[in-house]
Amino acid sequence: MKIDPLIEDILCKALEGRELSKEDAIRLMNVDVNSVEAYVLMAIANSATRKLFNSFGEVHAQIGINYAPCSKKCKFCAFSVADKSVELSIDEVQRRAEQFVREGANAIFLMTTGDYDFDKFVKIGRAVREVIPPDMPLVANTGDFGKSEAKELLDAGFTAIYHVVRLREGVDTSIDPSERLRTIEAAKSVGLDLSYCVEPIGPEHGPEEIVDAIFLAKSLKPTVMATMRRIPVPGTPLAKLGQISQLEQAKIEAVTRLVMGDDILAMGVHEAYAPCLMAGANQVYAETGPNPRDEIVDTSKGRGLSVRACRALLREVGLVPRDGPARSLQGPLRRERR
Ligand code: SF4
Repeated sequence: MKIDPLIEDILCKALEGRELSKEDAIRLMNVDVNSVEAYVLMAIANSATRKLFNSFGEVHAQIGINYAPCSKKCKFCAFSVADKSVELSIDEVQRRAEQFVREGANAIFLMTTGDYDFDKFVKIGRAVREVIPPDMPLVANTGDFGKSEAKELLDAGFTAIYHVVRLREGVDTSIDPSERLRTIEAAKSVGLDLSYCVEPIGPEHGPEEIVDAIFLAKSLKPTVMATMRRIPVPGTPLAKLGQISQLEQAKIEAVTRLVMGDDILAMGVHEAYAPCLMAGANQVYAETGPNPRDEIVDTSKGRGLSVRACRALLREVGLVPRDGPARSLQGPLRRERR
């Protein structure tokens, strides 16, 4: 059997642990998803991940705190067209965090709309820290902030942030990409880890654009990297463009994994798709409460998977669900143990 010699050269480079260039990544992105080359690419990314993480998989569990119209009006987000406001109480957020931990989550994420009150968010974070194990990563997924707010997150017990310069940030969103980068730098400067993602990928994003986003991610040195396809949430302006297939995302996942190399502590995929878990991903998300990809106010009754379902999916693809806290996203906790 023969495969395209140019693709073969790039894949050999990846197998030898050499860094891929942007040109290499674009060539891989241009491979047809149904070709032999695509399956070899995914197999190599899959085996790199299994080797690096010893076949362990992780479930990161996110609690959406509020469902409300968001002033940032990102063209892909359910909250940009929300017509009501619903918010979980602190007790309820604590209860859901405890339940996630009991079910076997490896990290807890707290998410709000982009304009949620920061002091309130810190207060909720502190309350959640009190009810989860001390070495359980606690991750902030909220709006933009500066260095003093980053320090407040750290002091409240957060260990990491989920923050991203989204594809076409500033065009499909009203946020300047430099503001997103400033937030990431602020968080990193106080010792918080970064969970990053190339998102939200739609059919209109070409190989060069996606590869640029992957290389930007690499320069930010996240401890968790991921990809996410855009879900066409009804009523959102970009819904009419549709979505990429799970197979297309698996190819992007594989390219992303090989570009990132072995400097990550987990490789994620939103949402939890088996093809991506066979193409370099070893980490998926359980979700409860509001979710920007779901029009249903409590995503656990909609798109959101439970921790149990995520762990079952990891087993289905031959990964071993990790017990206890994730190694990734430990931020200051990891450094304390050194
Ligand atoms: S993605 Fe975030 S910032 Fe954008 S509209 Fe949704 S909640 Fe607001």
